[in-house]
Amino acid sequence: MNIKENIEHFRSTIPNHVSLCAVSKTKPNEDLMEAYKAGQRIFGENRVQEMAAKAEALPEDIQWHMIGHVQTNKVKYMAAFVDLIHSADRLKLFKEINKQAESVDRIQDVLLQVKIAEEESKYGMPISEAIEFLAERKDKEYPNVRVRGLMGMATFTDDQEQLQREFKSLQAIYERFRESNDLSILSMGMSGDYQLAIACGSNMIRVGSAIFGARK
Ligand SMILES: *Cc1c(COP(=O)(O)O)cnc(C)c1O
Repeated sequence: MNIKENIEHFRSTIPNHVSLCAVSKTKPNEDLMEAYKAGQRIFGENRVQEMAAKAEALPEDIQWHMIGHVQTNKVKYMAAFVDLIHSADRLKLFKEINKQAESVDRIQDVLLQVKIAEEESKYGMPISEAIEFLAERKDKEYPNVRVRGLMGMATFTDDQEQLQREFKSLQAIYERFRESNDLSILSMGMSGDYQLAIACGSNMIRVGSAIFGARK
């Protein structure tokens, strides 16, 4: 894997309005630094402690995104530095993020993760609950949390029609609440499906293996 070339490839092929979150989970700091030297600044991790250790060791101007499931008792380890939490998916987690953000005097940017996959999946707020959350402005109960947009993960499948259906279901919610809730980020698409996700309105893709190679 030539990480530098991969970063350059993505930068030159994705549209300008789409942000690239380089998913570096399980990868060593040297790999992140190669991407960094190619100009990459947004890195996505799925384990709080791994992200905190990397943040400690790597340049200060990296923006750290938490993309994985977060246990409430881990929020405190990232409250001081995490730039965006993609995986805010339940009220209990909002409450804890709010509390920890307040304690370090920050407003924490998050995305509401919505369960769009038709397959059984544990994570993400069910669509009906997410719509209720957005319509009733439940985010206002958490003054130190700012909901910047939505995140979704499609089913692990090659079925393009199904993927499109799932992405479009999130795009529809995003469009419905974009103005009223001041949303600007729609995070969907990974190595295998980012082109379709962008065609369905994604403006932030989370790409791991296509940049850093397969994970063990
Ligand atoms: C691992 C992961 C990705 C990246 O997956 P790739 O297929 O390696 O691009 C994106 N989003 C989430 C939530 C992940 O956990």
